[in-house]
Amino acid sequence: MKHYYIDRDAAQSRTEVHASWCPSMKGAAHKDYVGLFADPRKAVSVAEEKGYGHACGCAYCCPETLRRAGR
Ligand SMILES: [Zn+2]
Repeated sequence: MKHYYIDRDAAQSRTEVHASWCPSMKGAAHKDYVGLFADPRKAVSVAEEKGYGHACGCAYCCPETLRRAGR
């Protein structure tokens, strides 16, 4: 299980879900806690439920999420 956060940096056109250990998440100025999950795909879907409709997983820390169709 890992803690996941969403990076909602205004400089970016999209929001990315990161695991707590991800280096690119540490530099995020604006981040919200998503929750504790075993699967990053679950973290992305919960982030979408929280209203981040364009949430996607980080390619570095959540590569599993990139296999989702249409993402
Ligand atoms: Zn990441």
